[in-house]
Amino acid sequence: MIATCPVCASPDAMDVARLEAIPVLCNSLWPDRQSALKADRAGMRLVMCANCSHLFNADFDPGILAYDGRYDTTLTHSAIFSSYVEETAMRLVRSYDLVNCHVLEMGCGQGYFLERLINHGAATGTGFDPSYRADTSVADNPSLKIHSRYFSAGQSSPTADLACSRHVLEHLESPLDGLELLRASLSPSGRGLVYAEVPNGLWTLEMGGVWDLIYEHVSYFTPTSLQYLAQRAGLDVIKLEPVFGSQFLGMDARIAEDARSETPSIDELLNKASDLGETITDLRRGWAERIVKWRSVGRDIALWGAGSKGVTFLNIVDGADIIEHVVDISPTKFGRYVPGTGQEIIPPSRLVGSVTGPLEVICMNPNYQKEIAAELADLGVDATLHLV
Ligand SMILES: [Zn+2]
Repeated sequence: MIATCPVCASPDAMDVARLEAIPVLCNSLWPDRQSALKADRAGMRLVMCANCSHLFNADFDPGILAYDGRYDTTLTHSAIFSSYVEETAMRLVRSYDLVNCHVLEMGCGQGYFLERLINHGAATGTGFDPSYRADTSVADNPSLKIHSRYFSAGQSSPTADLACSRHVLEHLESPLDGLELLRASLSPSGRGLVYAEVPNGLWTLEMGGVWDLIYEHVSYFTPTSLQYLAQRAGLDVIKLEPVFGSQFLGMDARIAEDARSETPSIDELLNKASDLGETITDLRRGWAERIVKWRSVGRDIALWGAGSKGVTFLNIVDGADIIEHVVDISPTKFGRYVPGTGQEIIPPSRLVGSVTGPLEVICMNPNYQKEIAAELADLGVDATLHLV
């Protein structure tokens, strides 16, 4: 249970939506169907802070989460995502003249982003991530040092010019502690920069992004609540904007010169949040009806994208557990099984031969629509794409 807002510590929150039973680790795939079906699940109670507009899961229990080497959030097998990461690294190095600087990343995964920063000119990088596997290619990069553990206070001397966290703050019980840690890692004589990237909670509110709701995420930042968090952590926001087709928020910030405390105005966000519960109910019902209709006329159904959105979809839409084909392009996911619903994850090529008639494809991310359509055309699979 989280009794007070993770951003501003206010106890006042408005109920937004409930999900009954979702896998507690969406990004941990299983080696066989039986264990996948038995994956731990828990409920979510999404609320909005009445003081700063922060969205969070008030029923979050950190005790049931354990990130390990099975945890796989690699998205860089998609060319679109890779080029987005590449452009972000290049922009940061160029905008803030990070050539010959030291960069640090909390929750660096397999070091892909740090490596890009170095390729574009940063001198050295340090990363922390408990899911880091030392068998990856970056292990041989002499400019990079990655530690397979959590980043915590006192683990690095304050030497970074740029401290980053991408898709980490939303996992933390105290994102304020996380951002303060990043700030403390900055060299007093250096650039003093922080880059933070999180899923865009405003997108979830405005676009009914129900599939973005996953147990691992305690928090869903609105631009307002992220800005407020930065202010509380002693940072001045240089730039905060929707990125990656508005699905993420990217924030450039620097060490603040003066302490400030301005409570944001949030009435409009509270109104949007009050509609989200109904939107979620309608979306779930609509997809359940579509699946029933396709089944009734004998259509094969595939879900494309076994990331967190796909896992949430399969687990909260009635009837989605019987979708036959769950496709992904990431080789690390092939032959592994979806938590909660137990489908095997297959590469696109496996659709050939296993699909007899026209295929209905549920595409979990509109950003990849063209990539998916091209792949299906190459394989000669007669398919209709449906965006969630
Ligand atoms: Zn708050």
